[in-house]
Amino acid sequence: MHAGNCCQTLPPVIITIDGPAGTGKSSVAQLLAQRLSLDYLDTGAMYRAVAVIALDQEIEPTNGSALAEAVQKIDLNFDWTRKPPALMLGERDVSRRIRDMDVSAIVSPVAAQSEVRKVLVMLQRRIARQHPRLISEGRDQGSAVFPDAPLRFYLDSDVTIRAQRRMRQLSAQGKTVDESEVLADIKNRDHIDSTRADDPLTCPDGAIVINTDDHSKLEVVDMLEAIVREKILNVDQTA
Ligand code: C5P
Repeated sequence: MHAGNCCQTLPPVIITIDGPAGTGKSSVAQLLAQRLSLDYLDTGAMYRAVAVIALDQEIEPTNGSALAEAVQKIDLNFDWTRKPPALMLGERDVSRRIRDMDVSAIVSPVAAQSEVRKVLVMLQRRIARQHPRLISEGRDQGSAVFPDAPLRFYLDSDVTIRAQRRMRQLSAQGKTVDESEVLADIKNRDHIDSTRADDPLTCPDGAIVINTDDHSKLEVVDMLEAIVREKILNVDQTA
């Protein structure tokens, strides 16, 4: 989203942010990217888009080969002219649709399919080549997709706090949802995401772990920004 001409002359830098659902990763990654003039990739949104395809085309969430084939036919891409980038299935903007509860309910089984992961990891690496100054956020970005990234973060938080955060997000979007439904969804996704065979959710070796329980979103962004500037951008925060 910030990949103007200026960024193409700057050296590549990939920062990964992983962690379970509801730690505030997406908002933190987005704000951090803005502050550091980096592009932002939401890989969870990509898996959610595949779940939308499954619902639209009535493909079983566990039918990995049919889903992978459908993704390749439909052209899952981002519109980088929008901030944050809009997620497109062909010409259709699905940025809002992917947040609905029926999508959340099937996204983890969809993401557990090897064939689906293969296609999306390939797309993520292609995006990183096109947007080499990138903050990539998800579950496996630092452990499997970009293991050589110079800076890898892992955000964690208590499950009830994560459910409350997700409730506030959904209400802010005008969606009415039941708190116990949101908590059950998060616990279910945590379980499937961390026990699947391919690239399970795990804290990458050498990642910087941040527990977000007692911190606001802005405090977490401040912490990460200070670390990035000190460790890789080498720029004084007051500059
Ligand atoms: O981040 P978000 O909650 O939107 O991710 C939705 C789902 O996509 C996760 O619960 C997980 O099943 C899957 N996912 C994944 N690998 C990623 C990002 C998300 O498997 N890199």
